[in-house]
Order: sequence, then C-alpha cells, then structure tokens
Amino acid sequence: MRYDVIVVGAGPAGSVTARFAAKRGAKVLLLERRAEIGIPVLCGEGVSQRIDKWNILESKNWIANKLDGAKIFSPDGTKVTLSKEMAGNETGYVIYRDVFDKELAHLAGKAGAEVMLRSEVIGLVKEGDKIKGVKVRRMKEDFEIEADIVVGADGVESKIGRWAGIDTTVKPNDLETCVQYTFSNVDYPTDYGEFYLGKKIAPGGYIWVFPKGDGVFNVGIGILANFSKPGLALKLLNAFIEKKLPDFKKGIPLRLLAGAVPVAKPVETVRDNLLLVGDAARHADPITGGGITTSLEGGRIAGEVIGDAVEKQRFDRERLAEYEKRWKEAFGQKLLRNYMVKEIMLDFDDKTLNMLADSLKDYSFEEFSTLSLLKALVLKHPTLLMKLKPLIKLSEKKMEKKI
Ligand SMILES: Cc1cc2nc3c(=O)[nH]c(=O)nc-3n(C[C@H](O)[C@H](O)[C@H](O)COP(=O)(O)OP(=O)(O)OC[C@H]3O[C@@H](n4cnc5c(N)ncnc54)[C@H](O)[C@@H]3O)c2cc1C
Repeated sequence: MRYDVIVVGAGPAGSVTARFAAKRGAKVLLLERRAEIGIPVLCGEGVSQRIDKWNILESKNWIANKLDGAKIFSPDGTKVTLSKEMAGNETGYVIYRDVFDKELAHLAGKAGAEVMLRSEVIGLVKEGDKIKGVKVRRMKEDFEIEADIVVGADGVESKIGRWAGIDTTVKPNDLETCVQYTFSNVDYPTDYGEFYLGKKIAPGGYIWVFPKGDGVFNVGIGILANFSKPGLALKLLNAFIEKKLPDFKKGIPLRLLAGAVPVAKPVETVRDNLLLVGDAARHADPITGGGITTSLEGGRIAGEVIGDAVEKQRFDRERLAEYEKRWKEAFGQKLLRNYMVKEIMLDFDDKTLNMLADSLKDYSFEEFSTLSLLKALVLKHPTLLMKLKPLIKLSEKKMEKKI
C-alpha cells in the first residue's frame, strides 16, 4: 500500500489536514485507532463562534447551544461578565463533540481521503533516518504502509513526533489533568459559560460549567499535573458541586470522563517527510486549554502546504517549513503570549485574583476573548501587570523568534 500522505489520528486536526490535502489532489489515508470517530468524547465541548467564519463545517448538527457569554468567578465569588451585547453578539457554542468530529472526518472522506478505523500506528517505517511510512496494527494484524509524508495528528499522547526525533515531552507544569461530568435534569437557568478560579478550587486551572441546553450541562475541572495526585481532580470537582452548585446535585450523571490537555509551548512541527498538527504539536491554548480552533486553523494550513508539496514532489523540511511559518503567523503569537500569561498567573494568590476580578466586575469588554480580558487587566493594573504589557504588543517577528 502506498499513499502520498498518511495522517495519524482522526480528531479535528487530522481530519481537517486530510481533507485539505486531498482537496488539492493528494492521495491521503487517514488512520484512526478508535472503532468510532469522536467516541469517547474527551472534551468540555466549548468553542468560539469564530469558527463560523472559516466555513470548515457544512452542517449545524454539531451545535448543542449558543452561549450568551461567559461569567468568570474569582475565589470569593466576584463575577466578571463578558456578554454577547458587549461582544458584538459573537460568543461561543457548546457542541456535540462526537457529531463535530464525525462531520470533519466525513468531509475529509468526501474530499477524497480514505478513512481507516481500528488502525493503530505503532511505529514509523524508516530507511536510515528517512521516514518512509508507518507500521500499523489493525485487528491484531501488523503491516506497513508507505507514504511521502506522515502527519502526526495523534493528540496529547502523541508518539509520532517522538519517533521522528522531536522532543515532545510535556512537563507536569504544562499539562492539565481534567475530569468532567455531563449531567441531565439540571434546573439551572443559564446560557452563560461559567468559569471558577482559585488555588483551592482548581490549583493551576479552573472549573467550568457549559450549558448544552434542555437541562444538560458539562461541569468539569482542570488542574495542573504538578499540583495533582491520583483522584484529586474528581475530589475537588465533587466538593465544589456539593458546596457551590447545589442545583447540580439533582442532576443525573450521563457521562464522567477523564483526559489531559497540553498547556505547553508549541514544539518543532516539521521534519523531512513529517508534520505535527493539533495537540500533537502542542497547539492548545495555554490559558484555556481549548484546542479545537487551532486544530482547525493549523489543520487547514497543513493540508494546503502538503497539497502543494505533493504537486511539486518536494517533501523536505525546507519545503514543509511553510506550514510552520503560516501557523506562527496565524496563531503563534497568541499561543506564546498566553503561555507567558499562564506562567505569570500561576503566581497570583486568591487575594490577588479577588482584587483583579473586583476591578473588572463592571468593565465593558470589546470582544469575547482572552485578549480582551488581558487588555482590560493591563489597563486597570499597569504596575502589577507590567510583565504583560509588552506581550500584548509584541510583534509577530519577535514572537516567531521566541517560539
Ligand atoms: C477534558 C477535556 C476538556 C476539553 N475541553 C475543551 C473545550 O471545551 N474546548 C476546546 O477547544 N478544547 C477542549 N479540550 C482540548 C481539545 O479536546 C483538544 O485540543 C483537541 O481534541 C485536539 O484535537 P486533535 O485532533 O489534535 O487531537 P484529538 O482530538 O485528541 O485526536 C487525536 C486522535 O488520534 C487518535 N490516535 C492517537 N494515537 C493514535 C495512533 N497511534 N494511531 C491511530 N490513531 C491514533 C486518537 O484516537 C484520536 O482520535 C479539552 C480536552 C480535554 C481532555
């Protein structure tokens, strides 16, 4: 078996990469180790409405609910609100992530990519240092498939990058361990996403509440792995629900999931014959842990660059570096800035968080984004947040050098 491109992993990053490469005429194989795309769901299912503008999805079947905005609570309960009225009506969606992932894989298939399930990549095929394809295990059978380009879209646990010699290690202080319930039967009338901060509530992370509509809610927690120990995330989440979200106690638990998100700096994403996309590239937002938007944006860029590479029959690092250049232009600055902000915020104690929230509680934000929140913080606290100031203005070029 031989393909121009093998994409490993049919999450959002892999499916979008496969689709845009196939659209440009490449012969693409999308390999997924699971038996069903999108299952199990490992996601809070919150995403910015910005993705509407990119025209990547065709249906609306994946939308569970449209948010009215976000409410952020400091440890003492002070509330900062970003509402749709302030944000030009553009907020976020709560999605059915399984439907979302299936649609993206469907569109990859429609563009000409071949999709193969229950196919786990267990190694790279190499000739010397040159990557020639992948080793696959499918229903207990092992075999090799050749390709000119291998794409690691294999998520937070990615092995493809490591097998290619890229250091993809995520330090415990760059990894959020998460658990989340989905409850039905909850009488809690809100269409706002809620975020609860505090060293005791969720050390190095936060608790989120996402309304899916009709009394269904995702309630989850992420804590930094270096503060974590077995069972702690679930214990903290249960304690919070017990104390602060009494309406959820009558809820019926339909799902309890556990997973991890990299809140790290991006890694090197290109080698000869190889690219990394999505969580495998550490493209999730270091503040929020959200990785869907960058998976879509990065996947599209990767697919287009791969399409050109196949057309020109050039698979060397220099040619593929176009992908790294373009994702850095698109969202590299944001990732680096938010990584630095994450590091700064880790030093904030609960008292400081309360003080910051208090100063923003009546603020009118210009848009529904972390940048808008950061700009307001810098404006209100120029001395305390001196270190943040240059990050907001830092030019693209300087950012590129720093990544
Ligand atoms: C609890 C939790 C909550 C989250 N909440 C949000 C949120 O609300 N909003 C948001 O934007 N992001 C959220 N994220 C992050 C988001 O889910 C990821 O950033 C996103 O899924 C990254 O997409 P991806 O395609 O890179 O990886 P994934 O979606 O993880 O897909 C990787 C795919 O590769 C497959 N795979 C792995 N190894 C192999 C192999 N060897 N062979 C074949 N297939 C393989 C996997 O089975 C999987 O299907 C959350 C994450 C967690 C864990």
